[in-house]
Amino acid sequence: MPDGPRPRAAEAPEPCVVPGCGADSVRHLALAEARKAFAALPEKGRRAPLCRDHYREWKKSTKAARTLDRLGWN
Ligand SMILES: [Zn+2]
Repeated sequence: MPDGPRPRAAEAPEPCVVPGCGADSVRHLALAEARKAFAALPEKGRRAPLCRDHYREWKKSTKAARTLDRLGWN
């Protein structure tokens, strides 16, 4: 069996960057991308970790041309 491309590090997930949220992140976006949906994000760093809920919200508001929404979640 092949080694996974991303071995799971023993690192705690970063908290969601959306102010007032702080849930464990499931995705990292470029901060500039995340700010398209969440204008209130602090301009700090380049990456924006998002929790599952906020990632979905981001996808909705950016209307990404993907229809994978319903395949991977729940
Ligand atoms: Zn969040």
